[in-house]
Amino acid sequence: MKTIDNLNLNGLRAIIRVDFNVPLNDKFEIADATRINAAIPTVKKILNDGGMAILMSHLGRPKTGPEERFSLKHLVPYLSEKLDVEVKFASDCTGEDARKMASEMKNGDVLLLENLRFHKEETKGDEDFARDLATLADVYVNDAFGTAHRAHASTTIIARFFPEDKYFGYIMANELAHINKVMKDPKKPFTVILGGAKVSGKIEIIRNLLDKVDNLIIGGGMMFTFIKAMGGSVGNSLIEDNLIDVAKQAIQDAKDKGVNLLIPTDTIIADKFDNDAGKAACDAYKIPDGWMGLDIGEKTREGFAGIIENSKTILWNGPIGVFEMSNFAEGTRFIAEAVARATDKGAFSLVGGGDSVAAINKYNLADRVSYVSTGGGAMLEYIEGKVLPGIKAIED
Ligand code: AMP
Repeated sequence: MKTIDNLNLNGLRAIIRVDFNVPLNDKFEIADATRINAAIPTVKKILNDGGMAILMSHLGRPKTGPEERFSLKHLVPYLSEKLDVEVKFASDCTGEDARKMASEMKNGDVLLLENLRFHKEETKGDEDFARDLATLADVYVNDAFGTAHRAHASTTIIARFFPEDKYFGYIMANELAHINKVMKDPKKPFTVILGGAKVSGKIEIIRNLLDKVDNLIIGGGMMFTFIKAMGGSVGNSLIEDNLIDVAKQAIQDAKDKGVNLLIPTDTIIADKFDNDAGKAACDAYKIPDGWMGLDIGEKTREGFAGIIENSKTILWNGPIGVFEMSNFAEGTRFIAEAVARATDKGAFSLVGGGDSVAAINKYNLADRVSYVSTGGGAMLEYIEGKVLPGIKAIED
């Protein structure tokens, strides 16, 4: 893997695509700096070499142009403090001013460019815009794993202008190393736990993983489409009728490939989608009309936990029940704890994709799993088996 450790940046300008898409509060203060903090080692390596760091990112989803609430200038004080240098700011990411500021940089300087998405050319992957960004630097570094699945100007197209001088930053390298450990060389038994709301969001992952896994655990809202496909009655549970045949096919494929597909046998049902709903334990195949399954039942929890604890590699994506409601969070917590126990016993566990990361943090278990991916959509596409344009652009 071509990372910034492969070169000495002394005297070089590096333009780094970072992910500074952090939440800001009403006073434009950073509400959660995790993403900025994660990028610091990459920037520091460049500065320690005696190089110059030009940082570019998106923030939020501006519609038609500059908007105060999406300005990256709000990050300058925090970034200056973290890096212990006075970070300069270019109020437009391209144009005469940015070029002048970049050319006047000295070794050890840091320049932050304004939000890339103030130009519609960024998300369109416009080549001229990418070229303008490229002229600012000698070297291109991509350290934004969260946007690696997008062929935007700053994540992909810009790499064309650095045929020999493009590198992964540390976040990128780290994410890829951990995900590849699971996807390319998993120690067996390999167990995947899939939850979340819908089958539609996960079907490509299921297809890709059936060739690799020993156990595939299905939970969350998506379990009911599988249960209906097996002839069960699911009441008012979340269901995707148009995917019943797809679920049937997945069940058949799992059989043909010798994959142990685990579908819940009991569930916790509610008489409305509310934490204060009437609640009961129920056979997952016999849910009465007017009731919906919002969590997995006790027997299922025990069964799943046994499989998880005997695994050597675990990939978990998506909550197992409606974990945002305390009365339906037990299944997700139980599974999170089983993943942590398996990790204690030596398994490699990777947790990724928005809500499962929220769940693992909620139960304070982030330190007891091997790796928590921050990739979200990028990670999902990677485990679907897709080639991510931002990664290909560096590797080609
Ligand atoms: P996703 O974005 O597809 O990973 O879905 C995450 C969401 O799925 C979370 O907000 C969960 O509350 C929800 N979810 C999990 N289990 C269920 C269920 N049994 N019924 C409805 N929603 C669920």
